[in-house]
Amino acid sequence: DNWPFGTGLEYDELVQILKETPDRERAKEWSAYYTAGPHLAGRNLSQALWTKERWEEWGVASTIVDYDVYLNYPKGHRLALLQKSPGEDKEEEEWGVKFEATLEEDVLEEDPTSGLPNRVPTFHGYSASGNVTAQYVFVNYGTYADFEQLRARNVSLEGKIALAKYGGIFRGLKVKRAQEMGMLGVVMYTDPGDDGLVTEENGAEAYPNGPARNPSSVQRGSVQFLSFAPGDPTTPGYPSKPGAPRLPVDHAIPSIPSLPISYAEALPLLKALNGHGPEASSFGKSWQGGGLAYKGVDYNIGPSPVDLKLNLINEQEYVTTPLWNVIGIINGTIPDEVVVIGNHRDAWIAGGAGDPNSGSAAINEVIRSFGVALAAGWKPLRTIVFASWDGEEYGLVGSTEWVEEYLPWLSSSTIAYLNVDVATRSRHLEVSSAPLLNNAFVEAISLIPSPNQTVPGQSIADVWDKRISTMGSGSDFTAFQDFAGIPSLDMGFGGRGDLTPVYHYHSNYDSKAWMDKYGDPTYAYHEAIAKVWAVLAARLVETPVIQLNAVAYAVNLARYIQDLEKKSAQSSWFQTAHSNGPHSTRDIFGELDASVSRFHFAASIHDALADSLLETLYRNDIPWWKFWEKLRLFYAVRKVNTKYKLLERKFLYAEGLDGRPWFKHIVFAPGKWTGYAGATFPGIVEGIEQKDLQVIYRWVDIAVSVLGDAADWLEEE
Ligand code: GLU
Ligand code: CA
Ligand code: ZN
Ligand code: ZN
Repeated sequence: DNWPFGTGLEYDELVQILKETPDRERAKEWSAYYTAGPHLAGRNLSQALWTKERWEEWGVASTIVDYDVYLNYPKGHRLALLQKSPGEDKEEEEWGVKFEATLEEDVLEEDPTSGLPNRVPTFHGYSASGNVTAQYVFVNYGTYADFEQLRARNVSLEGKIALAKYGGIFRGLKVKRAQEMGMLGVVMYTDPGDDGLVTEENGAEAYPNGPARNPSSVQRGSVQFLSFAPGDPTTPGYPSKPGAPRLPVDHAIPSIPSLPISYAEALPLLKALNGHGPEASSFGKSWQGGGLAYKGVDYNIGPSPVDLKLNLINEQEYVTTPLWNVIGIINGTIPDEVVVIGNHRDAWIAGGAGDPNSGSAAINEVIRSFGVALAAGWKPLRTIVFASWDGEEYGLVGSTEWVEEYLPWLSSSTIAYLNVDVATRSRHLEVSSAPLLNNAFVEAISLIPSPNQTVPGQSIADVWDKRISTMGSGSDFTAFQDFAGIPSLDMGFGGRGDLTPVYHYHSNYDSKAWMDKYGDPTYAYHEAIAKVWAVLAARLVETPVIQLNAVAYAVNLARYIQDLEKKSAQSSWFQTAHSNGPHSTRDIFGELDASVSRFHFAASIHDALADSLLETLYRNDIPWWKFWEKLRLFYAVRKVNTKYKLLERKFLYAEGLDGRPWFKHIVFAPGKWTGYAGATFPGIVEGIEQKDLQVIYRWVDIAVSVLGDAADWLEEE
C-alpha cells in the first residue's frame, strides 16, 4: 500500500497461488489433448481455437494473430542404393536396386500415434525438391570444420551426395555447407554412438521395450539457414501479412534436396562404404566412435565406388499459407511495462509430447494459475502477454513474424521474454539466459521444490548444476533477444548424464506413450516448470523496482572478453598479423576491458540506486504529509525502471552483423556455423575465424562505442 497502485492481493498470496495451482494431472490432460494427432504448422487451427478457448475460460482475454507464410509440405520421397551390373557392352549396363529405404518409422502397437493413418512423413522443413543420383561421401557431422578437413584431404565432394550424422550443429547449416561445396544432396541420420550409454550395443532394449533409441526412429526438422535469419524466408525483417512484398528465398533455404533417415536404414549405406576411401578415424577424434561398428560398419569416408550410387528423391509442395499464434493478455496498471511468455504449439509429428507440448501443457497451467489469482482479486502491476506460437519448427516463424510486426511496441514496452520449448524430456534443469535475468531466475527456482530430491525439502536451485548458457538460437526467443534486444530466457528439464532414456527428438516416438513411460511418468516435471515460469513472471511483473540486474550483465561481458582473448591467443595467425600490422600498438583487449569496466561502474551505481529505492518503498516510513517526497520516490522508481527496461536495447547495432543484417545484437547471436550454440561478441569472433584484421578492429570499435554509450546512458539523469 506504499505503492500508488493497489495490487488487490499481497505479493506473498499471489506467489502462494502460483506455487499451489499448477497441477500434474491437469498438465497431463492438456498434453493428452495436444499429442492426440498431427499439428504441423499451418495445419493446427483447431488446436489454436481450443487453446484460445481454454485461456479465455481461465479469465485471460485472447486473440488469434495470423500470418501468411511460405512453407513446404511433403509429397513424396525415395532413397535407394543403386548398383551397376556390368553387361556385355555399355548399352546393356543395368542399375539394379541394392537397397530401397522405406523412409518410414515402425508402427508400434504400444505407441498409438506412431500408427495414425494421417501421420506426418519423414522430411525436412524448407528442403528443396529434387531427384539426384550420385556417388556419396560420409561427411561426419557435416560441420564447417568437417568439410574443411575433407577438402584438406582431397576428398572429392563436388557432384556427390553427403551422408551426414545429426548432431553438433543445426541441421540446416550442414545442408548449406554441402551446397557450397558443390554437393548434390544430403542424407542425415542419427548415429547411436551419440546416444550416451543407453544403447542396444550396451544391452539396453530399444523403445518401446526399453529406453534405447528405436532403430527406425527418424529426426525430422527444418533445414532453413537459421543463423542467417529466422522467420518466413520471403519476408526477412518485416511481417508476412497478406499482400506483403516477397523476396526470393535462395539466401535463406537450401537449393539441394535433403532427407532424414533412421540408423537402421543408414546401416546398408555405411556398410557399402567399407573399404572405400580413407578411414574416418584417420580424420581425428570427432570422427571416431560411430556407434554402428558393432554392426559391421568400418566408417570409411568414401566416395562410394563408381558403380554404387544413391538415388535421392525429394518432392515438396511449397505454399503460402496462414498460421496462427494465440496471444493472451492480462493488462497491468502500468501500461508500458510488459513481460511476454511463450511456447510453440506446432509439432513435426502427431505426438510432440516433449517438443513442444510439454511446454504447451505447462503454459496452460501458468495461465490457469494467473486466472485463479485474478479471480482472487489480483490486479497486476505490469502487463503479461502469453503466446502459443505456430510455425516454430520450420524456423521460428510465428514468433519471428509477430516480433517483426509489433517491434515498435515491443521495443518501447517489453521488460523480458520467457520461453519454454521442450519443458521436459528428462530431469535436469537447463537454462540459457540474458545475464540481466540471471538473478531473478535463481530466486525463482529457489522457491520451487525439486521433483528430484535426494534430501527432503530441496528446491530446484538446490539440485541444479548452476550452469547458465548464453543465448544461441533454435527456439522462439531468437527474435526477442537478437532482433529486438529484449532480455530473454529459455528453460526446460533436459537430459544430462549417460543413463537418461533416449529422447526421440522430432520422431514419431516423441509421443504421449513415451512420455508416460520414460519422459515424465508422473508429470511432476511439467508441474514444476509451470511453477518456476509463473513465479519468475510474477517477480518481474509485481516487484515495484524491476528485477533485472545490470552488474550481472557487466560481469558476464567481462567473461566473454576473456573468452575472446583466449581465442585470439590460440590463433597464431592473429598474433602474427596483429603485431606485424599497422595497428600493432593497439591493445584491443585493453580497450574492451576498459569499456566493460566503465559499464560495470555505471551498472553498479544503477543497481545500488534500484536497491535503495526498493528498500525505501518497503520501509514505508515517509509520513503522509510529506507526499511530495513520496512522489519524488515514485518518479525515481519509474526512471530506474525505464533504464532497466531499455538497457538490453542499447546493445543493438542497426546495421546488424556482417552478412546477416537481421541479427542486430552485438553481444549475442547464434554462431554463424553452429546455429544452436551461441557466439558472444560474434562480430569479433567471426573476424578471428575469417582471419580478417579489419573486421576485428571494426567490431572492437563498435563494441567499445556501444559499451561506452550504454554506460553513459545508464548514468544520464
Ligand atoms: N527448434 C527447431 C529445430 O531445432 C527449429 C529451429 C529453427 O529452424 O530455427 O529444428
Ligand atoms: Ca518476416
Ligand atoms: Zn520445439
Ligand atoms: Zn522441435
